Amino acid sequence: MSNCLFCKIRDGQIPAKVVYRDDVCLGFEDINPQAPTHVLFIPLKHIATVNDIAMEDRELVGHLYTAAARLARERGHADKGYRLVMNCNEDAGQTVFHLHLHLVAGRPMGWPPG
Ligand code: AMP
Ligand code: ZN
Repeated sequence: MSNCLFCKIRDGQIPAKVVYRDDVCLGFEDINPQAPTHVLFIPLKHIATVNDIAMEDRELVGHLYTAAARLARERGHADKGYRLVMNCNEDAGQTVFHLHLHLVAGRPMGWPPG
């Protein structure tokens, strides 16, 4: 997608602090972190929202979770815990329409979310 911010980060056209990379996904620091760890995991494939995940993408979505869990463990968050969030569309506050999994960790978090 030529006009997608996260596709541009994937392609190196916009800088980002990349902390994880493999052949399926990319992880980079959120530009406006909401906790000591706030990393976004995106599939290399452009998918706009959770609504657009196809059956063939199921493995890819699971891949995002295992990559996030690996980084959470590496950063010492596994035992205390962390939050993984995918916002979908307006009511959830999605602002970038390239699927992304937020890894938020390093402080206690409230529930329910705002
Ligand atoms: P969402 O509201 O779920 O769509 O989350 C989008 C996230 O992308 C927000 O947490 C933003 O802070 C983050 N973000 C926006 N632009 C950039 C950027 N250039 N580099 C890194 N993170 C970004
Ligand atoms: Zn994209």
